[in-house]
Amino acid sequence: MEPGQAKCYRPAEALEGVEADMARDLLDLYGVEELYEDDERHVRDAVRAWVDERILPEIEAWAWDGRFPRELVGEMAALDLFGATISEYGLPGLSNVAYGLVMQELERGDSGLRSFVSVQSALVMYPIMTWGSQEQKDRWIPMLAAGKAIGCFGLTEPDFGSNPGGMRSRARRDRDGWVLNGSKAWITNGSIADVAVAWARDDDGVVRGFLVERGTPGFETVDHKGKYSLRASVTSELAFSDVRLPDSSRLPHATGLKCPLGCLTQARFGIAWGALGSALATFHAALDYAKTRTQFGNAPIASHQIIQERLVWMANEITKGQLMVWRLGRLKDAGRATFVQVSQAKRNSCWVARECARLARETLGANGVVNEYPIMRHLMNLESVYTYEGTHDMHTLILGEHLTGIPAFMPPRNDG
Ligand SMILES: Cc1cc2nc3c(=O)[nH]c(=O)nc-3n(C[C@H](O)[C@H](O)[C@H](O)COP(=O)(O)OP(=O)(O)OC[C@H]3O[C@@H](n4cnc5c(N)ncnc54)[C@H](O)[C@@H]3O)c2cc1C
Repeated sequence: MEPGQAKCYRPAEALEGVEADMARDLLDLYGVEELYEDDERHVRDAVRAWVDERILPEIEAWAWDGRFPRELVGEMAALDLFGATISEYGLPGLSNVAYGLVMQELERGDSGLRSFVSVQSALVMYPIMTWGSQEQKDRWIPMLAAGKAIGCFGLTEPDFGSNPGGMRSRARRDRDGWVLNGSKAWITNGSIADVAVAWARDDDGVVRGFLVERGTPGFETVDHKGKYSLRASVTSELAFSDVRLPDSSRLPHATGLKCPLGCLTQARFGIAWGALGSALATFHAALDYAKTRTQFGNAPIASHQIIQERLVWMANEITKGQLMVWRLGRLKDAGRATFVQVSQAKRNSCWVARECARLARETLGANGVVNEYPIMRHLMNLESVYTYEGTHDMHTLILGEHLTGIPAFMPPRNDG
C-alpha cells in the first residue's frame, strides 16, 4: 500500500448498493427505517419537514427568551399532532409507531415542544377519552384536537412528586357537586391551559379526576420562574381554594390512583420515542462538527480515536433505543405493551439522550456551551425529561420490582 493510502477493510462487492443507503443515514446500519410502514414514514417525514422549517430556525431564540411559541398551536393542530392515535372525531388514528415517530421528530426540535404535544394528547385527551362522559368528550376532544383549547395535567404536588399517592389535594362532596382544595406543582402548560385535568382524593380517600376550567373562582395559576430547562415550555403551579365544581366536571369512570398512573404510561411511551429525537439532534451536531473542526494540524478532530469512540457510543445506543421503542410500539398496537416495558424504554431513552448530549457537548469544546449550536439547550432540557414522568430512579425501582418481586420504594423496615 502506498504511504497515505487509506486501507479499506470492506470487500468492494459489499459496497455496491449499500453505500447509497448508508449515505442516506449513516446511523441506520440495521435498517431500522425498513421496520416502519410507508404511512408511518410519511407522517414522520411531514413532521420532520415542519420542524426543520418552523422550529429549528427559531427555537434557540424562544428558549433564550423563555417563551413558548403559542402562535404555532394552530399549525400543530393542522398537522393532526393532538390526539393522533384517536380514531373518533375525525382524528387520524395513527399507529403507536407513527405516533412515536412524531414524538421523535418534535423532540429533535425541542423537548419543550414535544412536552406540549405529549401533555395535550396523552395527559389530557387520553383521560377524557378513556374515563370521560360522552358530554365531556363531545365538548373537549374537538376543541383540544383543533388547538382551540389547551390542556394541562395536575398530579405532582409540592410535597409529592415520585410518590403521587401521598397527594393532599381534596375533593369534598357538596350537595350535587364538589369543593376542591389543594395545590399542584411543576405543571406543564398550567397557566396557558383552558382546562386542567386535576387529581384529588375524595372523602373516602379515592383518587378522582376533575376537569377544572380556567376562570373557575378559586382556581389560580402562577408560573415557575428561573428554569434553565424546557425554557420554551410553560411550567406552573396550580392552586385550588374552595373551587366549586358541578358533578359533571368529574371524570365519571376514573376511580383510583391507577387512572393518573395509566395516563403517565401513555405519556412515557411518547417520551421514550421523543428522547431519541433529542439524541439524534445532538449526535448529528457532534458528527458534523467533528468532521470540520481541525486541531493539531489539518486533520479534523473526527480523525482521533477518542472522538470516534464517542460518536460510536452515541450511534450504538441510539440504534438499540430505536429497536426497543419500535418493538414497544408494535406491542402497544397489539394491545400487549405493559407499563413495565414502557418504564424500561423511558428510562433507557432518557439516559441515552442525556449521555449523547453530554458527549456531544464535550465534542464541541467551548462551542458546545453556546446557543449557536443546539446541544446545550438539549442537555438542559433533558435534565427535566430525565426527571419528569417518573425519575430514572423510579423506573429502576419499577423494573427492580418486576425482576425480583420485591418493591423497594420504601426504606426497609427495621423490625429489630
Ligand atoms: C419541567 C417539568 C415539567 C413537569 N410537568 C409536569 C406535569 O405536567 N404534570 C405533573 O403532574 N408533574 C409534572 N412534573 C413533575 C415531575 O413529574 C416530578 O418532578 C417528578 O415526578 C419527580 O418528583 P420531585 O421533583 O418531587 O422529586 P422527588 O420525588 O422529591 O425526588 C427527588 C430525588 O429523590 C429520588 N427518590 C425519590 N424517592 C426515591 C426512592 N424511593 N428511592 C430512591 N430514590 C428516590 C428521586 O429519584 C429524585 O432523584 C414536571 C416536572 C418538570 C421539571
